[in-house]
Amino acid sequence: MTGRVYLSAPDVGPVEERYLLDAIRSGWVAPLGPSVDAFEREVAERAGVAHAVAVNSGTAALHLALLGVAVGPDDVVAVPTLTFVATANAVVYTGAEPVFVDCDPVTGNVDAELLADLLVRLRGEGRRVGAVVTVDLFGRCADYASILPLCADHGVPVVEDAAEAFGATYRGAAAGSFGRAAVLSFNGNKIMTTSGGGMLLTGDARLASHARYLASQARQPVAHYEHTDVGYNYRLSNVLAALGRAQLRRLDEMIERRRQLRDRYAKLLAGASGVRILGDGDDGANCWLTSIVVDPDTAGWSVGQLAAHLAGRDIETRPVWKPMHLQPAFAGARAVLTGAAARLFETGLTLPSGSALTAEQVDRVFIAIEDFLRGSR
Ligand SMILES: *Cc1c(COP(=O)(O)O)cnc(C)c1O
Repeated sequence: MTGRVYLSAPDVGPVEERYLLDAIRSGWVAPLGPSVDAFEREVAERAGVAHAVAVNSGTAALHLALLGVAVGPDDVVAVPTLTFVATANAVVYTGAEPVFVDCDPVTGNVDAELLADLLVRLRGEGRRVGAVVTVDLFGRCADYASILPLCADHGVPVVEDAAEAFGATYRGAAAGSFGRAAVLSFNGNKIMTTSGGGMLLTGDARLASHARYLASQARQPVAHYEHTDVGYNYRLSNVLAALGRAQLRRLDEMIERRRQLRDRYAKLLAGASGVRILGDGDDGANCWLTSIVVDPDTAGWSVGQLAAHLAGRDIETRPVWKPMHLQPAFAGARAVLTGAAARLFETGLTLPSGSALTAEQVDRVFIAIEDFLRGSR
């Protein structure tokens, strides 16, 4: 055994080194510069959207996207309960109230029927729904065939949180191309990284330029520092954009490695009763993270037992996101629930999924799981 096996470590090497060195040698260490512009163009093209605004986190991109669709105080915003906390936090930053919606038990993505019921109910109460935020959980797109027409009927803008899904597709369209605005994250554990960063994507030129303005301290285009609005310091630095451009060149190769891992997990666990891959069968997934769901009564073991076994061999695993309605920070928040997300939290486990895993590390993981399955029979 050599070293810890991480869930999803950054995958960087000589290409990234070269791009970073070039950015430094070009003299563009001051925040904005040509790599930011090029990175925005290249990501926009990859996602098939007209405009991209590079920012310093996915969370910042979410905040700007919500402001861009005019979410504000007194609004409610529908948010999947099964997500990373940033999705809900960004809603709170705007002064709006998040309402959490439970998930489909098979995919983990928002339950579109539950969302439909909620929108009708909120309309009946006379509440203004500022936005519906969708999350493409673990790199699998939400049910846009249901959600987009539903939200259009209600006149509610969709903000797509594609933080986990860059490179994924849904019926031929790229993650990040759904809704009025979408966001990507380039945090260190995501499918590609700028060490920290994010991107706002939109087809709306005015939304993009206003977001760019707000992200740069709402500075007016004059020589002295003139501000008529309160802005934010959200822009991505040129050096980090260079890292992003190198990662983007390798995105397909990194997705392919993660996909091979998922397929190998699926094969290994195909014979194990009571075990399934969360959201299995989605060919458009970017396979950012592979999670299994275990029914302990059928399997004869629980995910907690497998996690402990792997931890004993220095292999990192993690539960599926703890739902927002169970988080102390959102205690008392309104939620429409079926119990599906809470069950996935209890019975789901995310396995090492990173593209930087070496063949030796992958073998170690698979041998450890095989040993566990043998021992638990
Ligand atoms: C990672 C993530 C974010 C936030 O991205 P940061 O770049 O870490 O700010 C938002 N939403 C989801 C679903 C995420 O997984």
